[in-house]
Amino acid sequence: MLTLPLPQEVTDALARLTDAGHEAYLVGGVRDLILRREVHDWDLTTSALPDEIKAIFSDCSQNTVGERFGTVAIHFGNVFLDITTFRKEGEYKDHRHPGSVQFTKNLFEDLKRRDFTINAIVYHPERGFRDFFCGRRDLKKRLIRAIGDADQRFRQDAVRILRALRFASVLGFDIEEKTRAAIHRNKELVLTVAPERALPEFTRMLCGRNIRYVLTEFADVIGALVPEILPAIGFCQHSPFHQYDVWQHTVHAVAYSEPDPITRLTLFFHDISKPSCLTMDSTGRGHFYAHPKKSARMAKVIMQRMKFPTRQTELVTLLVSLHDSHPSSPAEIKRLLAAVGKENFQTLISVMEADTLAHSKWSVKKRMHHVHQIRDTGNTILKNGECYSLEGLAVGGKDLEERGISGPKIGELLRLALNKVIDGEWKNDKITLLTELEKLPENP
Ligand code: ATP
Ligand code: MG
Repeated sequence: MLTLPLPQEVTDALARLTDAGHEAYLVGGVRDLILRREVHDWDLTTSALPDEIKAIFSDCSQNTVGERFGTVAIHFGNVFLDITTFRKEGEYKDHRHPGSVQFTKNLFEDLKRRDFTINAIVYHPERGFRDFFCGRRDLKKRLIRAIGDADQRFRQDAVRILRALRFASVLGFDIEEKTRAAIHRNKELVLTVAPERALPEFTRMLCGRNIRYVLTEFADVIGALVPEILPAIGFCQHSPFHQYDVWQHTVHAVAYSEPDPITRLTLFFHDISKPSCLTMDSTGRGHFYAHPKKSARMAKVIMQRMKFPTRQTELVTLLVSLHDSHPSSPAEIKRLLAAVGKENFQTLISVMEADTLAHSKWSVKKRMHHVHQIRDTGNTILKNGECYSLEGLAVGGKDLEERGISGPKIGELLRLALNKVIDGEWKNDKITLLTELEKLPENP
């Protein structure tokens, strides 16, 4: 029999529960252990009631906020365990909350309420696997399959639709045919999912390795969640630089990029305004003037509506607004560095690389060469400590105040000095700058 490599703490916790006369199994993480993936959190399912769990782990620190739903969180040795009483769910009222939670002593009842077959495999080091829904078979087949009637399961709790897409993307699995059809049929229900539940699923989905499949096959579902993408689907770019429509370009750019949330969110939104920006020139070529700024504004509205954290929203919208910059001189690259901030420069370069890879094949090489020039020049500027922003300028507001200058004039003069330094006209040292500023006609 296959044995799973459990941390000692998990084995010990399961033993404590079974020694006290209860059934207890690892769930959720079993999927990841079989796939040899890192386990994010350790979920145990047990016939013990919450009060019994609390007593068995009375020597450990506990969090009981989920107790009403049967979950007691335990800090056990070096691991955090979510221990949940076997439960069956009653009627769902609003596509997300079961009307009631009922505890049960029956493992089958507990596993039947779970979302997908691969998530209903349980394991105990001595008792082995319990796998009533052939989850291990589906793991082998690399399939996401709903337990029971898929339509009903998605209607009960629509976050399962997003979880199916997340698992398909992260694990690189297909979605089984009936489950897939039910997802399409019930897609509008994703709007009923509370943002705090939808958001992590959406972000994790975007960062999965199979994202191209998910964004292509389930564009309608993504469109139910973010209707602003719908005009992009099938929208021709009328440009020799593009072999894909706006949506397929977006899908490819996301899939080519590093799987980190900021990069992927930026690429997800980067061209979202294009369908509303198209103008055709006399040769029949399409142009999308100002689309980065407009896409950034749309991204902001959408991310605020989806309740992304403010800092994430601000950074993504900044990167979207700068994704199509084409600085060529060192001075222009310094201005780009000032706009994006040195801590975000590499991310912007990654965004530009992925965007480039999703262009027409013939244009990739030249465009990529340019992106790498921006990267290399930018890195040299940073390495040499060259001045590209007010912080790096050898004079500050205080220096000007000491010379009797006040109010908005200070900012004006500093920006003027910065521009002269960036353009290489003035040397960035204090005496030079103050002398040059004093020479200006309207200054004392
Ligand atoms: P991960 O730990 O990677 O987020 P997970 O499947 O373990 O994935 P959890 O949120 O930890 O997700 O949930 C633990 C288990 O609870 C799942 O494996 C599944 O059996 C069940 N579960 C979670 N969410 C739902 C849901 N919305 N509907 C039905 N069962 C669910
Ligand atoms: Mg889990």
